[in-house]
Amino acid sequence: MARYTGPKCKLCRREGVKLFLKGERCVSSKCSFEKRKFAPGQHGPTSRKKVTDYAIHLREKQKARRIYGVLERQFRNYFAAADKKVGVTGSNLVELLERRLDNVVYRMGFAASRAAARQIVRHGHILVNGRKVNVPSFLVKPTMQIEVKESSRSNVLIRESLESISDTNRFEWISVDKNSFKGEFLYVPKREEIGLDINDNLIVEYYSK
Ligand code: SF4
Repeated sequence: MARYTGPKCKLCRREGVKLFLKGERCVSSKCSFEKRKFAPGQHGPTSRKKVTDYAIHLREKQKARRIYGVLERQFRNYFAAADKKVGVTGSNLVELLERRLDNVVYRMGFAASRAAARQIVRHGHILVNGRKVNVPSFLVKPTMQIEVKESSRSNVLIRESLESISDTNRFEWISVDKNSFKGEFLYVPKREEIGLDINDNLIVEYYSK
């Protein structure tokens, strides 16, 4: 599956918020957004472009898509699936994205960013209920056990990421045991619990136009 391989910090500057796409660097003084809080490109610093209604909706959709590292077509598919489900479409969408295996691996602290989690999954370091799953978009279900494969537990990136996490129970819907490199996805979190700074309604309106 294709993925975005361009410069990540540019995405934060384009969206005008920190998207935390680079792990540790995002919370350090090296964060590009802290130094250049304006859109990328020649006219970025001086741009006085009028922000249209369409642009507001588009930016919100792009922000969500970039946070979870999903390409356009796949994101549209998630939206279609969320729309079919009972309940509020915007909340369904975020709840679906939250179940992606790469996101769960990131939330568990086995990787410093969703991009790193995606790579760990692709390289076959992760087992789900004891079986290797190397598909980042795999949707995790409640009570599924996620663990780092035994032979991968010496992986420096995985170890460093786990060590940097002080509170492994930061998310109610996930339990992690650092020592055994294992975690459980307890339940699908409600939209309010996920708490991302995304306006779901704008995304729904974007696709409803
Ligand atoms: Fe965004 Fe992280 Fe780059 Fe800062 S360091 S601009 S938060 S990706």
